[in-house]
Amino acid sequence: MKWGLIGASTIASQHMISAIRAQESHEIISVMSSSAERGHAYAATHGIPSSTNDLDEIVGNPEIGAVYISTTNEKHFPQALAAISAGKHVMCEKPLAMTTVDAVAMVHAADKAGVVLATNHHLRNAGSHLAIKGIIDAGRIGDVLSIRIFHAVLLPENLQGWRINNAVAGGGVIPDITVHDADTVRFHLGEDPNEVVAQELAGSLGQGVEDSAMSIWKMPSGIMIQSHDSFTHPFAGNGFEVHGTKGSIVARGVMTQQPIGQITLKTADGDEEVPFSNHDLYVRSMGLFDAALRGEGEPSATGIDGVKSLAVAEAVKQAAVSGQRTIVNYQRV
Ligand code: NDP
Repeated sequence: MKWGLIGASTIASQHMISAIRAQESHEIISVMSSSAERGHAYAATHGIPSSTNDLDEIVGNPEIGAVYISTTNEKHFPQALAAISAGKHVMCEKPLAMTTVDAVAMVHAADKAGVVLATNHHLRNAGSHLAIKGIIDAGRIGDVLSIRIFHAVLLPENLQGWRINNAVAGGGVIPDITVHDADTVRFHLGEDPNEVVAQELAGSLGQGVEDSAMSIWKMPSGIMIQSHDSFTHPFAGNGFEVHGTKGSIVARGVMTQQPIGQITLKTADGDEEVPFSNHDLYVRSMGLFDAALRGEGEPSATGIDGVKSLAVAEAVKQAAVSGQRTIVNYQRV
């Protein structure tokens, strides 16, 4: 499988180029950047044979079978549609699009073209989250009552660009992080949040976009979810807690790109440290994408998963702006 990268991004250089190359018989043959100079330098740095600043050169290249889109958020939708209509399989970064309506259109286009569309929600590939899901599914904490997620960190200086000052490019902590919270909760519970309340703040970093958000979601089963996401907290860290009638799972450091963290299972029998696999999250995600290309199963997060995480994030934003309890609109995907 020959790949084209759409976007000379940090995430591709830090995780996805190596994750694609880790798959047998997958190679990256071109990268597209809006700047010819940047694209050229990026290709040279990463040993990619060619670069272009013309999307048509990627989607029109018959050698390329799949593209990985990791441009800023407002570009995902038009670039994915162009790739899909050229018959390319697409691994797209989250959020899939700027609106749920556009994300649904991407899913429909991929279905019509018969190509695989996946969303790069890495957390459901983490050994930590697979272990947490195993505990929940085995009934070890009884019936789930609530989940608390916090992902309140200090945004690294090299990422303090469009994320904190460009609403048009899809900046803000809600499209950046709350989408991941939504996908992770859906992964663990197998149900979709139906309504939310929220508050947001543009604090020390956000210029025209929120850099902190707190929200509470209700699941159809009645389970309650609390999410706290921020770009401005140097020492708060990140964590994921699932509380049930017979026990609690308290995980720290697991809302991250690395295969790290710590999970404690608390029950009437005491505290138990839970071991988990330390495999690379992105390599696993690409492995499942590769299998889906061969007709074996689905990507770890499908296009529909990307629609649903975006719908929750959209509802959180709407609830924060309006001050109103907001029903999540999945656009009947
Ligand atoms: P970057 O800011 O690194 O890249 C986004 C775009 O910005 C690139 O496509 C590039 O445009 C441009 N750009 C990058 N570096 C420079 C530079 N030095 N000077 C000028 N322009 C530059 O973003 P991220 O890699 O952090 O995020 C990209 C996408 O991936 C987003 O949609 C984000 O939400 C998602 N993401 C997902 C993660 C996950 O774990 N699933 C983690 C991090 C991000 P061009 O290509 O035109 O050169």
